[in-house]
Amino acid sequence: MTQIDKTKPVMVTGAAGFVAGWLVKKLLEQGLTVHATVRDPLNTSKVSHLLSIAENSTGTLKLFKADLMQPGSFNEAMQGCELVFHTASPFVLEVKDPQRDLINPAVMGTANVLDAASQTSSVKRVVLTSSCASIFGDNIECAQAPNGMLNESIWNTTSSLKYMPYSYSKTMAERKAWELAEKQNQWDLVTINPSFVMGPALNPQATVSESITVLKQMADGTMRVGAPRLGIGVVDVRDVADAHIAAGFNPAARGRYITSGHNTDMLAIASTLRPRFGKRYPLPRNAVPKWLLLLVGSFVNKMLSREYVRKNVDVVWMADNSKIKRELGIAFTPLDKTMNDGFQSAIDAGLF
Ligand code: NAP
Repeated sequence: MTQIDKTKPVMVTGAAGFVAGWLVKKLLEQGLTVHATVRDPLNTSKVSHLLSIAENSTGTLKLFKADLMQPGSFNEAMQGCELVFHTASPFVLEVKDPQRDLINPAVMGTANVLDAASQTSSVKRVVLTSSCASIFGDNIECAQAPNGMLNESIWNTTSSLKYMPYSYSKTMAERKAWELAEKQNQWDLVTINPSFVMGPALNPQATVSESITVLKQMADGTMRVGAPRLGIGVVDVRDVADAHIAAGFNPAARGRYITSGHNTDMLAIASTLRPRFGKRYPLPRNAVPKWLLLLVGSFVNKMLSREYVRKNVDVVWMADNSKIKRELGIAFTPLDKTMNDGFQSAIDAGLF
């Protein structure tokens, strides 16, 4: 049982990110002092939304400069913190060099943050933003899981540097985190494993997260001919922030938590937007047949290799979210609210 003192500062890495923004906002609104790390505190396009949230809240925000690839760069921000939220990790699917652009920052970055935790005597708990990607590689694996549903005891063993490198980066980073947690007994580790995070961004213009890219693709006609029945899990970004906070402050929180509100698919999530936005935007109406994707998918999108299409399209994705509901009391936002709020926030920000 780890008791966190709310009068002490808490740390959030990658504070300018899509997920972290909501976490920082909710912490500040609870009156906490947040030590927020960003790569460039002077880049106003990345941090001004955080500064104005802080101004309108009872909490206190302190920005620190830190880079995942620089050992020791998280030490200063961690001073005096009992609780560390480590969210920073690149979430991009198309990269030039997966080892350099995904695996190294995810794994070495996690090691740097956790080494800093071990060197900072105030730290009692680390909450790591992992992913459902460290639980499964391809949708076909759901069928082999108990009752056809992914659970927290399962690990992704099929992604690699060459195939699904982002999923591999998250798997290797979480494995590294558990390995380092077991080597010491000063702090405990809790992981939040979200599925695909959707919903409104607090700073849409500067967000590079794939979560925003998918919304853009729904609006710009990329999916005009249709969307694949690609099974996915979806969770609201605000619920993901609540999950982090519960994992941080609930003394009994332990282990991994699948954080996924809905077992759904790509066409179904796009369809939630049609009643409100269907007249103004070329939203997908039909399912793209699997045979067509097998034939031409990889020309349209590098991600859609034959292997990927075979193992994921027209294959249901199912995960068991009962642990987080039962142990941390998380209730999930309805899917159509998440999608519509996200789409509207992107419109308001002038993204499309
Ligand atoms: P995001 O908006 O792109 O945020 C990623 C954050 O990582 C950014 O703040 C970025 O910092 C930081 N970062 C990347 N490379 C870094 C480096 N070398 N040094 C320091 N910071 C670095 O993406 P997100 O969707 O919010 O993702 C946040 C976390 O949630 C990630 O761990 C991701 O794997 C996880 N996650 C996301 C989803 C999803 O669907 N969005 C699902 C499951 C898990 P800068 O602001 O300086 O660029």
